[in-house]
Amino acid sequence: MKQFAVIGLGRFGSSVARTLARMGHQVIAIDSDEAKVEALMNEVTTAIQADARDEEALKAAGIRNVDVAIVAIGENVEANILVTLIVKEMGIKCVVAKALNDLHGKVLAKIGADKVVYPERDMGIRVAHTLVSGNVLEHIDLSPEYSIVEIVAPARVAGKTLGQLNLRAQHGVSVMAIKRNDKILAAPGADDVVEEGDIMVLVGRNKALERLQES
Ligand code: ATP
Repeated sequence: MKQFAVIGLGRFGSSVARTLARMGHQVIAIDSDEAKVEALMNEVTTAIQADARDEEALKAAGIRNVDVAIVAIGENVEANILVTLIVKEMGIKCVVAKALNDLHGKVLAKIGADKVVYPERDMGIRVAHTLVSGNVLEHIDLSPEYSIVEIVAPARVAGKTLGQLNLRAQHGVSVMAIKRNDKILAAPGADDVVEEGDIMVLVGRNKALERLQES
């Protein structure tokens, strides 16, 4: 179990806080808006109303002891940057900050954020990929060139083993897992058979993954 602080309980922050708490972690949730704090009160370990720019209030909330602090303040860029700086200077090992755009992200990285996230941009990319290619269920960018995708296995591959499909040699694409109903076959081998309707989790170059979806 890890300890987290989530600062800023908008749609993104509250979703992060709620998910971490459901996973069994300790979560201190902070927002300056009383209503946001009350909405989450019963779902996290501690929910506190405070202006996170107030260092003493953060210390009183006990956030110096957390393993990870997530700065999820959005629109108010100044507060977002200031709070990231404050929590980093408190000595918290891992500070994750939400950025609105590239420039904002660069500033956050420069002042010491250990990870910068762009939830709106990333969700836009993922949704666009799933829209363009009908059988892509999930898309995660690993780098500008490489991705992980989840696709529904097309009928033409059904009944074939991974060895017969030979995706790695022919396309440079690896099958990381096969999902079938509620079961997950992790790190499948050459003898494993793909069935129609299976969901295949693939990693590879974007070009190769696109070719695979078209062919
Ligand atoms: P989302 O997209 O996640 O809903 P957003 O990008 O629209 O969020 P905001 O709603 O501006 O971002 O901010 C998220 C939360 O951060 C809000 O609930 C707001 O009350 C809170 N917040 C803003 N400034 C501070 C601050 N100085 N201290 C604590 N909380 C703050």
